[in-house]
Amino acid sequence: MKNILLLLVITCSTSFAQTKPVKIFISVDMEGIGGIGTSKMTSNNGKDYDTGRKLMTAEVNAVVKAIFQVGPATVLVNDSHGDMQNLLHTELDPRVEYIQSNIKPLGMVQNLDESFDGIIFIGYHAMAGTENGFLAHTGAGNVKGLWLNGTEVGEGGLNAYYAGAKGVPVILASGDKTFTEEIVKVVPTRTVATKEAIGSSAAKLLHPDVVHKLLQEQTTAALKDLKNAKALS
Ligand SMILES: [Zn+2]
Repeated sequence: MKNILLLLVITCSTSFAQTKPVKIFISVDMEGIGGIGTSKMTSNNGKDYDTGRKLMTAEVNAVVKAIFQVGPATVLVNDSHGDMQNLLHTELDPRVEYIQSNIKPLGMVQNLDESFDGIIFIGYHAMAGTENGFLAHTGAGNVKGLWLNGTEVGEGGLNAYYAGAKGVPVILASGDKTFTEEIVKVVPTRTVATKEAIGSSAAKLLHPDVVHKLLQEQTTAALKDLKNAKALS
């Protein structure tokens, strides 16, 4: 009888663990999205901006699909590029909630708080002035550099520290190769390189379908390993 009772308790606690949704924040910029190879694609009056928006939305959807394949989740997506009104409402996975437009006091990490289990950066780029960083900049184009306690950081580094202050680990970061090399110097995280910059305004690209597959593999791995993810301190 005692054994049966113990078994029941284990069964109950296991099923509870499986159904508790994970809470994931996705901060999505545009320059580092797979398939975006010109600055015009990231500018709302530029050539192929419509394609850029589709690529950005599809890349978010690819990550969201992988999250929900692992188990139940609550996902908040924060549109974090330019006027922050890029994601295509009707093409976005309906399982997410999302934030659009600015001005938002916390910008790319608006509404991130201690309740989240992890944050994912996608579409990110290297910091201002970086050699071979595709469309590298920090914040607005007139910012020459940003330092935190004497260390120069880009948008990814700044947001990683904010997440760290809230106890939220960066579980995946994606963008051009130079960005991925930059972010792991700040915070240990999984990365996906979507392209390799040629100077600051051109890039050698992976096909978006290949990027989606890589992101899904890393998202799955990150979620399965969530208990070992550490917030930056
Ligand atoms: Zn951007």
